Amino acid sequence: MGFTRFEEGTGYCGRCLRQVAVYRPKIRHVPHLLLTLLTGFWAILWIRDARKGHEWRCLDCGATVYKTMS
Ligand SMILES: [Zn+2]
Repeated sequence: MGFTRFEEGTGYCGRCLRQVAVYRPKIRHVPHLLLTLLTGFWAILWIRDARKGHEWRCLDCGATVYKTMS
């Protein structure tokens, strides 16, 4: 789905065991709102994307990490 941009930062990855670059999707809600109004069922995909947006992930291995610095 192409409605997300990425936010970046630095965190500690428990899988790589080092400081890594981390990212998370930054959700643009307007296209989701329009598609929900047009189709109705799009709300399901919107909620799924919004949930994913809270997680920071390791840029190297994709594991979920906690961001430690900005
Ligand atoms: Zn990693």
